Amino acid sequence: MMNEMFCQKCGGLMLLDREKDKLTCPKCGFVPRSKPKSLIIKEKVELGKEDEIEVQGGKKVDTLPKIEEKCGECGNKYAFYWLVQTRSGDESETRFFECTKCNHRWRDY
Ligand SMILES: [Zn+2]
Ligand SMILES: [Zn+2]
Repeated sequence: MMNEMFCQKCGGLMLLDREKDKLTCPKCGFVPRSKPKSLIIKEKVELGKEDEIEVQGGKKVDTLPKIEEKCGECGNKYAFYWLVQTRSGDESETRFFECTKCNHRWRDY
């Protein structure tokens, strides 16, 4: 049985102090440290802020995938490409290209 229901000091029946949300002994004033499980109130779980998505369009990484895409500036056939998630989230990813030759950048519409 739950020993919290009886005072550990004098053995008297404990009463619930609703203000403090704790069991107390009316005889000797003893208050147990741990709350009975049935009295534990579920704490509200605060939703964390949604992680803001970093838009990385300025950095050029060597590991970017290459694709066959004609550059409008120099006519080069190949370009690096990467995807950028828009901030609103409900829009689809936008694909960006960068010419492997002249570094011209454009986006896929
Ligand atoms: Zn007591
Ligand atoms: Zn180019």
